[in-house]
Amino acid sequence: MERVILEAEGVSYRYPGARDDAVRGVSLRLSAGEVMFLVGPNGSGKTTLLRLMLGLLRPAGGEARVMGVPVQRWKRRALARLVGVVAQREEPVFPVTVRQLVMLGRYPHLGPLGAPRAEDRAAVERAMALCDVLHLADRWVATLSGGEWQRVRIARALAQEPRALLLDEPTANLDIRHEMEVFELVCGLAGSEGVAVLVVSHHVNLAARYGQRIAVLQEGRIRALGPPLEVLRRQVLEAVFGWPIEVVNWRGVPQLVPLKNNEVDPISREERER
Ligand code: ADP
Repeated sequence: MERVILEAEGVSYRYPGARDDAVRGVSLRLSAGEVMFLVGPNGSGKTTLLRLMLGLLRPAGGEARVMGVPVQRWKRRALARLVGVVAQREEPVFPVTVRQLVMLGRYPHLGPLGAPRAEDRAAVERAMALCDVLHLADRWVATLSGGEWQRVRIARALAQEPRALLLDEPTANLDIRHEMEVFELVCGLAGSEGVAVLVVSHHVNLAARYGQRIAVLQEGRIRALGPPLEVLRRQVLEAVFGWPIEVVNWRGVPQLVPLKNNEVDPISREERER
């Protein structure tokens, strides 16, 4: 039976002093082993929605739940054992080694004395191996390249052995190989470990290939939610992103080609503007 891990039901939020809601009545459910991508233009509410689902913001309406329990009711430490997060921005400023940083992911699991046990050390080594950073274990985090740092942060989240993984732009600043490695890794974990994975990404084309479902946000609302072929349609994308886009079918997967001005024929431009 499918097990719902993360759930938002009609959640809304407005930042203090803001004129409009950043998130408006959003509902979605994420089951064990599922990969969902959250896409949408800048300012459409993606990061705010993640914060609501993590209980970092309290919704003005609706409810976010983790394993069926309202997120606000979880103790932070218990929640940290269930949900791993790779936030958008974080600089490697702490004077710690890679292994020490990944061990931080174990803190929600440590006993009352706080000393790592064999199982904690094993989880750290396993997470580092999965993220291909074992060879960096004794390096200071400040000396890592962008791609290495990103993989180390994902390893820290995996060391938590979470049921759900939330990633906000996990491949920003990564080159093609490292970007693909991150997607292969986190989306592979859904299949192999049954982790529910929710990824915010600007890479709609990769979302179409790695996501089982895609949620498209526009001005805080879900404009479309479903399998890539259903969701990534020209009319939806052009309206949401405000730019002419052609959708091509590549091996059964929709892929977007944003058009240059001289590639838009005048008749369809007229249609689009109508
Ligand atoms: P996205 O992640 O899709 O770029 P955000 O969730 O960051 O969108 O932002 C949604 C809206 O909320 C935007 O209009 C943004 O300006 C506003 N917003 C985000 N963070 C804050 C904040 N801390 N205070 C006030 N407004 C915010």
